[in-house]
Order: sequence, then structure tokens, then C-alpha cells
Amino acid sequence: MQKSKRKLNKKEKLIYLDYASSAPVDPKVFSLIANSLRRDYANPSAIHKSGLNSKNKITKSRKEIAGILKANSDEIFFTSGGTESNNLAILGVLENHKKPHVIISNIEHSSIIELCKNLENKKIAEITFLEVEDTGLIDPKKVKKVLRDNTVLVSVMYANNEIGTIQPIKEIVKEIRHFNKINKKNILFHTDATQAMNYLSTNLEKLGVDMMTFNGSKIYGPRGTGVLYKKRKISLRKVFFGGSQEAGLRPGTENLPNIVGLAKALSITEEMKEKESRRLIKLRDYLLKEILKISKKIVINGDLINRLPNNLNITIPNIPSDLLVIELSERGIEVSSKSACKSGDDKASYVIKAINKNLKEEDGSIRISLGRYTEKEDIKYFIKSLKEILKKLGKWYN
Ligand code: PLP
Repeated sequence: MQKSKRKLNKKEKLIYLDYASSAPVDPKVFSLIANSLRRDYANPSAIHKSGLNSKNKITKSRKEIAGILKANSDEIFFTSGGTESNNLAILGVLENHKKPHVIISNIEHSSIIELCKNLENKKIAEITFLEVEDTGLIDPKKVKKVLRDNTVLVSVMYANNEIGTIQPIKEIVKEIRHFNKINKKNILFHTDATQAMNYLSTNLEKLGVDMMTFNGSKIYGPRGTGVLYKKRKISLRKVFFGGSQEAGLRPGTENLPNIVGLAKALSITEEMKEKESRRLIKLRDYLLKEILKISKKIVINGDLINRLPNNLNITIPNIPSDLLVIELSERGIEVSSKSACKSGDDKASYVIKAINKNLKEEDGSIRISLGRYTEKEDIKYFIKSLKEILKKLGKWYN
């Protein structure tokens, strides 16, 4: 197994605690991709033998993914990642309607929030940005209250990328189904499961969602690869135009090596799910206990029970997030201040603001996300370093 502590020099070590941002590629996935890159150069649309061989490999990967998710092969569409799958799901549904209404949570990933803001600004759709509770969770009853006559889609993420809160999507689906039945509607439900795939059940027969997004980079697979699952009965309008790849929904030559790698990464993570979740919960809870000992002023963000096993997100008053991240990085520890897509814009995270109305701009938050190569020693070193940093930076620190 790959070691988490890559030596920087004799004294320094690297402790990666940013798995929610991007997980290292699994060695088995890596060698499959390398082999495929070398061998499978033929275009899967070509009708010669090598082309057919490429096509067969895509078919096999699609089948493998569908099998793991308990879906049909023709419900799996390969994309370039989570962002594209999310855009495709929302735009594809909206294209079918006039004056549609869409409901999303106010802590969705930026690929959904920014798209919906844009659709609202251009008056293409009416959007409800449903507020989460202080726990970071959506109340399914509140979803029911905002459903309208012209609602066509509800999109709520399975687990949040910053605070790791797990949304009650089965309950939300129940509310929508009930509304649909009584009002003879067909409101669809989409979930962004990008952060959930390593730890939560993704049995689509049981989840009951209509569409689901995930990507390769969070499951120790290839970057720039993703999936959109959509039920057969749903017809999505085209957003991209070109060839007939992915049933015409996502034209362009398929990224075969990455597709093969994505299927492998999903099967590995599915196999490890339960054991790895138990291991990470222990480590994360140890981290939480030690953080709480440091100071009562540290705030733990988000519900602690309905939460991904690998996530902890804390706010440290009066110390800016980026300063904390840089100080930790100086000591060889890598965490993030908010979602990777939003880092560098020097504003407090909209997710933390949504759950903590008293948050001041100078209050820094960091996300510590553990993963396959995290060990107890890493957590101990993190705690020791955090104490040092707070002593150095904070007047408030005692
Ligand atoms: N959705 C969630 C919840 C994510 O965490 C991410 C990545 O950070 C994305 C979507 C975007 O995925 P990608 O970078 O593959 O476009």
C-alpha cells in the first residue's frame, strides 16, 4: 500500500488530508489506465477489429458500473466529470419545459449553484435555493412546502463536499413521489453523489433517485471522468451537439482508458466501502476528540451523526482560513479551506455561512478529509501542529 508520509527531506513529511478534493489514483487503476493508453488507441466508433475491441471495452465498463449501482447499462452515461454530469442533468431537463421551477439546496456544489444562478438571471428558470438547517441538513418537509405546479426538478446532493453532511435523499424522494401521485405530476429528483461514492450505499434500486452524478477523482480513479445515471424513462434534451456517442447525449470520442479506470475504481471502492468507513470513523472521531481538547472556541461545522466517515470541518475564530492552510502546509500537512473550486477567492465559504449566521469574515474554516492512506500517526501530527500554529497566531489561544 502506498504510504501517506512521502519524505520531503530528512525532517519533513507530507500528510495529505484533502481527499475530498482529490484522491490519489489507486495503483491497480493506474496500471489498467496505462495499459489501455498503450493498447486501446483505436476509436471506439471505427468498424475495424481494433475499433470494435475499443467499443467492447466501453460496453464492458458500462455494464460493470451498472451492475455495481443496480442500474441498467443504457442508463449510464460517461462524461468529463461531476461538473458536466450536473450541468447535463439540469439543463437536459429544463430544455423540455417552458417557465420551469427548480429546487436545489443552498449548499450544493458550485457546478449546480452557479448554473442555477445563471438560469435565474437569464429568466430561463425559477429557482428555489432551499436553506439547510444549522446542522447542514435539508428538512424533507420543507422540500414538500416549496414544490409548485411548475416544479420540474429537485436536486439535492447526497453528501456535502465541505462539511460532509449526508442529506436524507430517500425521504426527499418519498415527499416528491407523494406530491407527484396526488397532483399527477412528474417532478424528477437528481442527486450529486460525488462525495458519497466511497462510503454510502449507492444501490439505485433502493435510493429511488431519477438521476445521479459522480466522478472519478474522488474514488481514487482517473480525473476528468464522470458518470451521469439517468432512468430509461427520462428523456434529456441535448446540450452538446455532434456524433452519436453516449446515445447522442454526450458526443465526442470516448476517453476509453479513463472509462476503463473509472469502472475499476468504482469496483474497488465498493468492495472496501464498509471496512474503510469503520476505520475512518474511528480515526475521525479520535481527531474530533483531540480538537475539542485544544479549545472550546473551535466550532465543529455540520451534523456529527449524518456525516461522511472521512470529514471534519472546523471554524477557528479570528484566524483566516488561508493562513491556517498555509501554516499547516508549512508543516507538511495538506487540508483545504473550502471546496477546491472556490479556494483562492478569499471570501468565507458559502456553505459555512449557510449553517453559521454569526460567522465573521475573519473566522477561518478548514476541511480535514481523511482517506485510504491516513493513519493514526498522521492525526497525532496534525493535532500537534495545530496546537503550535494556534499558539503562534492566536492571541485568544490559551
Ligand atoms: N460535485 C461535488 C459534490 C464535488 O465535490 C465536485 C468536486 O469537487 C464536483 C461536483 C465537481 O466534479 P468535477 O471536478 O469532476 O467536475
